[in-house]
Amino acid sequence: MKVIDLTPRGYCHGVLVALAMVKKVIKTESYPRPIYILGQIVHNSKITKAFETYGVISLDQPGKSRLEMLETIDHGTVIFTAHGISKQVIERAKDKGLTYLNATCRDVLKVHKAVEQKLSEGFEIIYIGHRNHPEPEAILAMDPKIYFVEDEKDALLLPNELKDRKVFVTNQTTLSMYDIESVLKVIETKYPAYVFDNEICNATTVRQEAVMQQEPVDLMLVVGDQMSSNSNKLAFVGMKNQHIQSKLISGVEDIDLSWFKDIESVSVTSGASTPTAVTEEVIKFLKHYDKKDPKTWDHESKLDLLDIL
Ligand code: SF4
Repeated sequence: MKVIDLTPRGYCHGVLVALAMVKKVIKTESYPRPIYILGQIVHNSKITKAFETYGVISLDQPGKSRLEMLETIDHGTVIFTAHGISKQVIERAKDKGLTYLNATCRDVLKVHKAVEQKLSEGFEIIYIGHRNHPEPEAILAMDPKIYFVEDEKDALLLPNELKDRKVFVTNQTTLSMYDIESVLKVIETKYPAYVFDNEICNATTVRQEAVMQQEPVDLMLVVGDQMSSNSNKLAFVGMKNQHIQSKLISGVEDIDLSWFKDIESVSVTSGASTPTAVTEEVIKFLKHYDKKDPKTWDHESKLDLLDIL
């Protein structure tokens, strides 16, 4: 079977900075213990588990806001994740006397600044993102009047009176242009004079472009966590642009051998929060895999959690 390793793939600069920050806190005894992460440092449960082995507690409570999770912490060090954090949470951490570090990615900070600027210029803000994702949470906390939309249906419900106002539209960093274009079409009909700032980050863009420009293959495997927005988008872009059958797998253990029954070629990519060792294990398995040789069929992961960091 032909195996194509797409590039670029895997860790982006924002993830590398966030992981380095957690490792530094682990190694530096002067940071008060316990060490908490408010959410998952990046959306990958293997990384979360690996940090757990060092006693790092990732507070990830579905349905609870960052502010609510922070209230459960009385002492120690808190790390805010790459997805961004609101000023209210930072202030509350200060009030509580907690030591805190902020791993917000510089590309996410850029969106915060753009929204802040447009608010100060009197614009109405429409933000396109994913519900229940931490990145929109921090943006929406900036002003209760920011309009959040996920899809065309949400866009259709935006109030008509905005047509007489200055409207600024921007988006979550890990979306695809497909998500945004359909929403923009609706916005354009409602507020033709809107101003748009595309904030899909460069790391997300170049990984999606590699998927779109690949040679035709029978199957694409995207290595990444179900929670990872950019990993999900790689699979989505593969199906939408190239009509390639795409599977999102968290690692080699998720492979189903029946996928390879009638195919001759497979490509592999990975999300920006996927550990390199996890993707390399998938590629190694695929390169050795032989449909006719059961000795090559074992796809249990041999990675130690500590190999992941
Ligand atoms: S995917 Fe983009 S925005 Fe998210 S951490 Fe990486 S570089 Fe930053």
